[in-house]
Formats: sequence, structure tokens, C-alpha cells
Amino acid sequence: MSATIIDGKAHAQGLRARIADAAASLSSRGVTPGLAVVIVGEDPASQLYVKNKARQTVEVGMRSFEHVLPASTTEAELLALVAGLNADPAVDGILVQLPLPKQIDAQKIIEAIDPAKDVDGFHPINAGKLMTGVPGLVSCTPLGCLLLIQSVRRDLAGLNAVVVGRSNIVGKPMAQLLIAQSCTVTVAHSRTRELPGVCREADILVAAVGRPEMVRGDWVKPGAIVIDVGINRVPNPAAGEGKTKVVGDVAYGEAAQVASAITPVPGGVGPMTIACLLRNTLEAACLRRGLPMPAVDFAA
Ligand code: NDP
Repeated sequence: MSATIIDGKAHAQGLRARIADAAASLSSRGVTPGLAVVIVGEDPASQLYVKNKARQTVEVGMRSFEHVLPASTTEAELLALVAGLNADPAVDGILVQLPLPKQIDAQKIIEAIDPAKDVDGFHPINAGKLMTGVPGLVSCTPLGCLLLIQSVRRDLAGLNAVVVGRSNIVGKPMAQLLIAQSCTVTVAHSRTRELPGVCREADILVAAVGRPEMVRGDWVKPGAIVIDVGINRVPNPAAGEGKTKVVGDVAYGEAAQVASAITPVPGGVGPMTIACLLRNTLEAACLRRGLPMPAVDFAA
């Protein structure tokens, strides 16, 4: 069997087009959603990522506010900026790029963001809403993964799902989203025993580990849907000395022989994360004004 490749880039483009339509209809009612992105430090990769977010924000017809702060920024200074953004009526969504320099407690910053503007879905209030099945802002990467899964299979009820990784930003919210879809969910992690056997039970296998190509082809149940969240930069000597490439947490070539559908890296989950951030900004703009959320979720 050779798997269907789930084209995250194309699905993200489709989602952004629907978001742009919805933003245009909001604009005609005098509302232009605004997203503030805050980055602390001069890491070029993060700065590029933030630039990319800002470009896509503007492309879908929203306002982008970028705040680039020096690496020496104190926790008090960042908290003051967040308080200002919380109070700014032009700002519907606030994203503080992680990781933060060590003098800043990231959890404190996350908890300082107004939950109604928490487009990353990391605030405990939004995490709690997800867990209790109350509508709220959902973490972007897991939301993107769910949309990609549903692009190949809409009804997930009764399927066995295994999520490898239990971080607050990917693994745990992913598990909650799959529970809400009536999957039977197992969350695996570094202490899980006999991980290959656990993965082989999965009709839906989500790898969010951060270990290059850890999930091998013989860990995959024939016909499974495989979602690879991992982004790992590894040496690529074939391209020349000192060259690198990005690979996922799944040995793609092997797994694609066994799965029914699989996301590539790059071009799978990554593009959906930013599209879902824009989706969440739209949702936050609607929720804050008591407007209904336009139906933009599902990739064609
Ligand atoms: P974390 O480091 O926070 O979590 C990794 C998880 O993997 C932990 O729960 C850890 O277990 C588990 N783990 C580590 N080693 C093993 C192992 N040998 N066997 C089983 N489980 C293991 O990472 P994130 O959740 O933040 O990110 C995961 C990956 O996804 C990274 O590659 C990251 O770059 C990528 N990512 C991609 C995004 C995208 O947009 N595509 C967005 C966010 C992340 P334990 O808890 O026991 O330590």
C-alpha cells in the first residue's frame, strides 16, 4: 500500500482563503481583526517565523502588530506590554513567541494574557475549556492536526488514537480534541513501555516528540492515518558538507508504505499551525463582539 499524502500546504492555503472571505465580511461590518505577535530576542529562525506570520496575517485582511523586544527584556517589561495589548481594542489576538529568555517565566506570561485574546490556546482557562468541552480558543498545532485528519476521514468515532508526546502545547490538547471526536485515546511519552506495540494499535497515530524519524514503518498499523508534528533539523551530507534538512518524528518513507494517509515534513502540520492561528484570531474577534463565528474550518 502507498499512503495518500496529506498536503498540509494546500489545506492551509484553502483554510486561509476561507478565513480571508470571513475577514472581508467582518470588515464590511466595520471589524478588522488584529493579531499582535511578541518576540523576545534576536534568534533569526524565530524572527523569520514571526515575519511569516505577520505577512500571512495581512494577506488574509487582518491587522498585524509586531513587537520585537531585546533578549535582555525583563519579565516586568513583558508583563507591561501584555497588559497594554490586553487593553488595546484593536488587538483581538496575542501571541508571545516561545521559548522566552530564562529571566522570564513563560507560564506567568501565558497566564497574564487575556483568555479572550489567547489565540495560542495556552492559557489554563482555555486548556480547561477544551478539557471540559466548553467552546474556547484551541491550541493551533493540535487543531491543525485534527483538521488534517478530518480531511481524509470525517467520522472518527470509535477509532483508536495514539498520541506520542504529552506536552501542554501539542500532546495533551491533541488528546483532548480526539476524545471530543469519540476516539479511544492513548497518550504515550518517554516512560511508555513497549512503545512500538502501543503505536501499532493506532488507527490514528500522532507523533509529537521531537526525535528525528523515531517512529518506524513497522510501528504503524496497516491503513492507519499518521500525523507527524515533529520538526527536527538534521545533517544532510548528501546535499554538501555542513548542509542540513528538516525531518519529522516519523520515518516517512517506511511509514508511507503502511499507512493509508500521512503528513509529510515539511509541508504537513507546519503550514496548518499558522492558518489555525489566523482562524483563532478571527474567532477571538467574533467572540469578543458577540458575533457568530463564520464556518471556515474544514479544508475542501
Ligand atoms: P516537548 O519536548 O515539549 O514534548 C515532547 C514529548 O515527547 C514529551 O511528552 C516527551 O515525553 C515525549 N518523548 C520524548 N522522547 C520520547 C521517546 N523516546 N519516546 C516517547 N516519547 C518521548 O515537545 P513539543 O510537544 O513542544 O513538540 C514536539 C515536536 O513537535 C517537536 O519536534 C517540535 O519542534 C514540533 N512542533 C511542531 C509544531 C508545528 O507547527 N509543526 C508546533 C509545535 C511543536 P516526557 O513528557 O515523558 O518527557
